[in-house]
Amino acid sequence: MRKFNFCAGPAALPEPVLLQAQQELLDWGGRGCSVMEVSHRSPEFTEVAETAEQDLRDLLAIPDNYKVLFLHGGATAQFSAVPWNLFGGPGRVADYIYTGQWAKKAIAEARRYGPVNVVASSEDRNFSYAPGPDSWQQSEDAAYFHYTPNETIGGVEFDYVPEVSCPLVADMSSNILSRPIPVEKFGMIYAGAQKNIGPSGIAVGIVRDDLLDRALDGIPRSLNWRVAADAGSMDNTPPTFAWYLSGLVFKWLKARGGVSAMELESRRKSAMLYDFIDGSDFYSSPVEPGSRSRMNVPFVLADDSLDGAFLEQSEAAGLLNLKGHRSVGGMRASLYNAVPMEAVEALVAFMADFEKRMG
Ligand code: PMP
Repeated sequence: MRKFNFCAGPAALPEPVLLQAQQELLDWGGRGCSVMEVSHRSPEFTEVAETAEQDLRDLLAIPDNYKVLFLHGGATAQFSAVPWNLFGGPGRVADYIYTGQWAKKAIAEARRYGPVNVVASSEDRNFSYAPGPDSWQQSEDAAYFHYTPNETIGGVEFDYVPEVSCPLVADMSSNILSRPIPVEKFGMIYAGAQKNIGPSGIAVGIVRDDLLDRALDGIPRSLNWRVAADAGSMDNTPPTFAWYLSGLVFKWLKARGGVSAMELESRRKSAMLYDFIDGSDFYSSPVEPGSRSRMNVPFVLADDSLDGAFLEQSEAAGLLNLKGHRSVGGMRASLYNAVPMEAVEALVAFMADFEKRMG
């Protein structure tokens, strides 16, 4: 029996997608083998790859002057790929917003390749908010500006797109495809797949054409977006199964009304949980209203000695993976696209009951 899964990633996948993959595993479309067992250069896989790209383009309304790349190494490889591809040479500075654990990793990686200016940080209030533009200290001529629209661990989400005069780069790993985005405002968008796209092992990159030719000398071939773009993301063997499954998720999303529908749903789901938390003295949210993520909802119990009981009992009730990240403790419910409203209803009912019994 499938249970409600609130894992932050790898996260729940849509059940119809898993069922289709299961059905096709031994005999994919009458070919007598699975999609994992054909050449990535075969006409049948080429069709999978091209259809997935087109569906993603449709879902996010990606303009023609952007390449869509399917990349190896997760979002972490892109932490390195961004400075390698965009610093553009000595003497340039990169601007970064520091909003939590993932921004921290991205900044540390960029510093290996050039100077980083931390434009704004929310460290002063324990990464509980997205710093507003009035506090930013931008560089005059930055090579690029990087931010993390949704901090998966802290549960902090930007509710606006920064306006900057250099290429804007976003790590959208945990909120891509959860609402429409003005792609034309970005130079580069990347996302590890294992939350809202598909299984782990693949990352999506969306790069504006004019940014493909400013890589630093010595860039590893596997991180070079120009190489990936020219080879249709097949300079070497791509993670074909993850690509195929991502394609099934894109079809599922389209059939459900696309990213506008996902935005509405994510607002309803997260509001239900935040409203419940705010109405209780037993649970609280560490994130400031206005910056609260629709995707990842961390919360703490008034008495943390009950954390163990909460996790044990929630799991027994069929609510999986509610433990907060090891660096912050408490709980975290991730409400990605594949997590249905019924999961949130079940979670809130469980939380109310737990409070009544234990609070
Ligand atoms: N950025 C964000 C916002 C993330 O949530 C994660 C993974 N949880 C990463 C980067 C790292 O992704 P990966 O494990 O695919 O390298």
